Amino acid sequence: MDFSSKLLENAVNEVSQLPGIGKRTALRLVLHLLRQPKEQTGYLTRALDNLVTDIKLCKNCYNISDVELCEICSSHKRDETTICVVEDVRDVMAIENTAQFQGMYHVLGGKISPMEGIGPNNLQIESLVDKVKAGKVKELVFALSSTMEGDTTNFYIYKQVKDLDIKISAIARGISVGDELEYADEVTLGRSILNRIPFENSLRQ
Ligand SMILES: [Zn+2]
Repeated sequence: MDFSSKLLENAVNEVSQLPGIGKRTALRLVLHLLRQPKEQTGYLTRALDNLVTDIKLCKNCYNISDVELCEICSSHKRDETTICVVEDVRDVMAIENTAQFQGMYHVLGGKISPMEGIGPNNLQIESLVDKVKAGKVKELVFALSSTMEGDTTNFYIYKQVKDLDIKISAIARGISVGDELEYADEVTLGRSILNRIPFENSLRQ
């Protein structure tokens, strides 16, 4: 692609780094930003800037938060003995939308994926195991997507906590194999949390 402007080229290159955005789409988006009032584009750049500068991870559940302890972790209405293990903030949002889960979350920050070079140490697994060992937790609910990476991650954690005195369950698979949680409709997802099954049973399916 030949650009008439270096500034334009730089902006397009940066935008095209985003997942699913090719050079052509990036050019279309950048030209759109140029066409709209400067003020409008300023809102976008400021929002992104603030996001990068001010965003935190909750020190208890590692969900994305504006404050040290997220709203869910600081709520007195939540049951801190039940922890739902999820991959990222999108899963927390999807499950919260169902209004069927009153426990807490633990956000791993991804799944074990040797292909992508993501090992257990790149995820919040040790902190989860420590949390369980601390003794307050009565149940872990695995709610990772039902992919090979999700299953591997579940099993890795399971091995480390299975001898501790807790219940380990997995959300029921009304969600078909390979589906990401965020794509499941609220009713299906809500039901699969309520009808969760012992994790050992999910292994045999
Ligand atoms: Zn939290």
